[in-house]
Amino acid sequence: MLGQMQSQPLLISSLIVHAERHHGEGEIVSRRVEGDIHRTTWRDIARRSRQVANALDSLGLAFGDRVATLAWNGYRHLELYFGVSGTGRVLHTLNPRLHPEQLAWIVNHAEDRAVCFDMTFLPLVKAVAAQCPTVKHWIALCDADKLPADSGIDGLQSYEAWMGERSTDHVWPSFDENSASSMCYTSGTTGNPKAALYSHRSTILHAFSAALPDSLNLSARDSVLPVVPMFHVNAWGLPYSAAATGAKLVFPGPAMDGKSIFELLESEKVTMAAGVPTVWQMLLGHLQQNGLRFSTLKRTVIGGSACPPAMIHAFNEQYGVTVLHAWGMTEMSPLGTVCTLKNAQTALPPDEQTKVLLKQGRAVYGVDMKIVDEAGNELPWDGKTTGDLLVRGPWIIASYFKGEGGDPLRYDAQGQGWFPTGDVATIDAAGFMQITDRSKDVIKSGGEWISSIDVENIAMAHPAVAMAACIGMKHPKWDERPVVVVMKKPGAEVSREELLAFYDGKIAKWQVPDDVVFVDAIPLGATGKMQKMTLRQQLKDYVLPGV
Ligand code: AMP
Repeated sequence: MLGQMQSQPLLISSLIVHAERHHGEGEIVSRRVEGDIHRTTWRDIARRSRQVANALDSLGLAFGDRVATLAWNGYRHLELYFGVSGTGRVLHTLNPRLHPEQLAWIVNHAEDRAVCFDMTFLPLVKAVAAQCPTVKHWIALCDADKLPADSGIDGLQSYEAWMGERSTDHVWPSFDENSASSMCYTSGTTGNPKAALYSHRSTILHAFSAALPDSLNLSARDSVLPVVPMFHVNAWGLPYSAAATGAKLVFPGPAMDGKSIFELLESEKVTMAAGVPTVWQMLLGHLQQNGLRFSTLKRTVIGGSACPPAMIHAFNEQYGVTVLHAWGMTEMSPLGTVCTLKNAQTALPPDEQTKVLLKQGRAVYGVDMKIVDEAGNELPWDGKTTGDLLVRGPWIIASYFKGEGGDPLRYDAQGQGWFPTGDVATIDAAGFMQITDRSKDVIKSGGEWISSIDVENIAMAHPAVAMAACIGMKHPKWDERPVVVVMKKPGAEVSREELLAFYDGKIAKWQVPDDVVFVDAIPLGATGKMQKMTLRQQLKDYVLPGV
């Protein structure tokens, strides 16, 4: 017997229809590339998304064609999120921090038909345009009068001239909810990048789950600032969850420095902000240097790489802001786990609670996870045993775009496919998962594993340390030994010996790094994560002391 409920496909257009009808007055505030603050509403975003839809139709783009963006977080980018996907085209968010050659490779691989870009990226577009034969339309996200006469790009149009005169009427088409809606290439630390191709269904289900109280807890009373870029896994899906809940969105545009972010947090009464640890490091530095306090910020979602305990303590104890430590991946849309306590943990002494909150957290509804040994056998949830972390769920990839890399899944005895995350983790009896490493970053010393994250977290707790990366160095006896690479805070001092002594009593003696290498900068990748591969190359001539 079938249920007798209305059958409606889960489409991204339904989010903007909802936001317009039920939260029309809700604000969207953006710092623009032009430098000013722009204010609009969900109602206006909906109206302009329909203009985008009509403008796309006028280009004759087919269902499923890729429309790329090369843009900061802002209202025009948001309109494209709904206008492109809402009409059945695929929004391809390009990462502007990539090398031009890599970018051109990605545009060609995706066969993008149009690219909409912020004027900041005009030099980048100029550098790649000739190498991108599939792109027939270049659209600059600006007013007509801001378009340079001599851009050197054939047929370049301004976004406002292209969509601004179109009708605001558009009936969103209905189609299979499994149709592709957007795509994002992975960071691709090895080999060519591969793309996760999201569907309308996966995006909507993710938006529901991400908004739940024990996930990101979004509501119509929130003012949300995604520092996480809209070009990286759809800003963790926040634009979609915000449309579903009617939350206010505040976009930082290109100004990602601590001062600019702090100004927006205060002026727009932001209650929740989300970003990678490196961004929050800058924000905390700005607060500390200027003796500032938050007046409205209640919680911050930190993910993308391990959040150092020192940062969680600073937010919680010095500023009264709850840190939600979250973990996910491009291949997971991205949300996998968020760390919030259950009843049993709220009864623990404060120290014990903090230990739990440092973990990456519990699986959100829709994601199942397990840890396995090399043979694929499931390992116990005892909080100690480490294993390869595998996940499954309706917003986790089944395969990469164009089937690149073959079938990525591992199948269990029941034939269920699990996606291997490449992370190594423990899971405790209450279901709290803790990442101990990327499998390729684990340091193997004398047959035992050392967690590079543990070594980094301790260094980061030292007041003179701005950033720390732990890497394994070849050792004739032990195979590998940990070395911690450290960038000091401006004007701060710490010696090698002082830092090594700082490890006393914090981890087992054999896990203490053999050496400290001080550097001026630690290389960061296009999504703000430490690039250990590059660091290893930079240190290729390094020799461990006494070897
Ligand atoms: P990406 O697909 O570029 O977002 O990278 C996903 C990877 O980032 C994961 O597989 C983890 O290795 C890492 N990652 C994301 N969030 C966290 C976190 N909270 N703690 C530790 N690593 C994380």
